[in-house]
Amino acid sequence: MQASETKLDSNEALERGRWLFVQECRFISGAASLAQVPETVLPEVAFAGRSNVGKSSLINALTGRKTLARTSNTPGRTRQINFFDLGGRLMLADLPGYGFARAPKEQISGWTELIDAYLKGRAELRRCCLLIDARHGAKDSDRKVMAMLDGAAVSYQVVIVKSDKITETELAARGQALIGELAGHPAAHPKVIPASSRLGSGIAELRAALAALAANR
Ligand code: GDP
Repeated sequence: MQASETKLDSNEALERGRWLFVQECRFISGAASLAQVPETVLPEVAFAGRSNVGKSSLINALTGRKTLARTSNTPGRTRQINFFDLGGRLMLADLPGYGFARAPKEQISGWTELIDAYLKGRAELRRCCLLIDARHGAKDSDRKVMAMLDGAAVSYQVVIVKSDKITETELAARGQALIGELAGHPAAHPKVIPASSRLGSGIAELRAALAALAANR
């Protein structure tokens, strides 16, 4: 076991994560361009994933709110990054979902332009949680985002979501496959976190990982 793992899974780290995520979480604003991204002095964590991967459910499970993050991934609807202030210590950025099979070309290039500008231009961004569906593993659209994150040198950690949809054995195999794939990516965190918003598993570990990035006051 690595030293960082010991620290992350310690009771103290879990308690710090629990404490952070019971703080008030406040919607700040939505940004459809880099110019609209709100100014902040807080460290920031972004959440990215294919549409329908379970991103809203994960953000709601983390913050203990049922309707904080809403699914706004209907094709054709305005895509924006939504910002939330968590207890004046951490900014959460909910990135628009990607990977629509039938999305028009302009929509894909609009998404890519916004996310690329954000990843490269956001000095406060400490980490991106990249959500991957336990049943499907990494898809080509996820790999494109990994390449964008590597290119922007933004540290990212894979969260395997909807882990309740597969067996423990399948989950272990999925985790190993992803760890193997991530080893070739310079900005990827070596540890993946399995989670189920439905069952609440993995949520405490993810809170602890994110609390380690939050501002101390
Ligand atoms: P988003 O589009 O990425 O924000 O995804 P949503 O959070 O709206 O979730 C998409 C669908 O997946 C919804 O029907 C959710 O109920 C379902 N879902 C989300 N998280 C989980 C989970 O942990 N387990 C299971 N079984 N279903 C989930």
